[in-house]
Amino acid sequence: METTDVFASNSAAELKEKLAGASNIVLTAHRSPDGDAVGSCLALWNHLKEGDIKSTVVLPDEFPGFLNWMNGQDYIVLHSLNPNRAEELLASADVLFCLDYNASSRVGDLQPSLDSSKAFKVMIDHHQQPEDFVDLMFSDEKSCSTAEMVYRLIESWGEEGRVSAETSSCLYCGIMTDSGSFRFPSVTPRTHRIAAALCETGIDHSSIHAKVYDNNREGQLKLVGYAITEKLQVFPEYKAAIISLSTEELDRFGYEKGDTEGLVNRALSLEGVNFAAFLHESGDRVKMSFRSVGKFSVRDFSSKHFDGGGHHNAAGGASFDSLSDVVDKVISLLPEYADQLAY
Ligand code: 5GP
Ligand code: MN
Repeated sequence: METTDVFASNSAAELKEKLAGASNIVLTAHRSPDGDAVGSCLALWNHLKEGDIKSTVVLPDEFPGFLNWMNGQDYIVLHSLNPNRAEELLASADVLFCLDYNASSRVGDLQPSLDSSKAFKVMIDHHQQPEDFVDLMFSDEKSCSTAEMVYRLIESWGEEGRVSAETSSCLYCGIMTDSGSFRFPSVTPRTHRIAAALCETGIDHSSIHAKVYDNNREGQLKLVGYAITEKLQVFPEYKAAIISLSTEELDRFGYEKGDTEGLVNRALSLEGVNFAAFLHESGDRVKMSFRSVGKFSVRDFSSKHFDGGGHHNAAGGASFDSLSDVVDKVISLLPEYADQLAY
């Protein structure tokens, strides 16, 4: 069964007309942008540009180095590096896209500018329980990625025939990274058909995978080795595993943003483990990544105890408590969820 098409209504066509008449289109994504966030923004940026519609990508902060090959990345305005320019762009935007997030708090320090912007706001997102802060909402929690939804928007405009290799590479990266390389349950026959269409534009899918996943520095690989050897705590009675890393530990291996991407999935890959948590210090806070298989909703867990969110099986949050307090809190909560964790 295909999912219902959120782009089937005529609002997608009306959006296209609005874009053609707009003078300042801004594309934003969430804080700590990942492959889907950057891929979705740059795919839309490239596609609009090739249709003679100018836009600007504004991101709250840096994205990991393994994403720095996408066409248009040099023109991205980072709020963390260039706050005045980023804020000006949001203030003067007439159309503002919110890609890969569904709550304005997800853009971090960019939130006041987002909230006060008078632009017509358009959300394209696949997380659960969207907040109502936009004028037009394309929300599909069944979609494996925002990039897949961006392709569907392009399809609804009847423009899939002119999708370039540049646009395709960005979309492929977004779909690939958010679907665990096409292996999560959210991947549908349609996802594969979209991937096939992207491949037909002449992209090198194998090299995209290699750029993202086979580009480790020595320190990064050693950090992963250290985390698994020294820092993995397994709780077989709760089918749970936790890894935590302090700033000191991260720095010892020359940590760069993105180095621990996927680490939480290594903990989840343990036989018999249904819940994995990766917690690490990041500036003034502790960043949490939660993953589960089966019944246990890490989204509910994260939103209830850590004011976070995400999806049923992949969620996250942040805390201003100390790393050891957060680790203790996660461990102390396990007995409460013993029944759900058993499956
Ligand atoms: P990751 O563990 O890869 O950072 O995030 C996993 C999922 O949880 C993503 O879908 C992401 O959007 C969501 N997520 C991560 N951190 C937060 C957070 O602080 N707040 C909310 N609401 N969602 C988050
Ligand atoms: Mn996503």
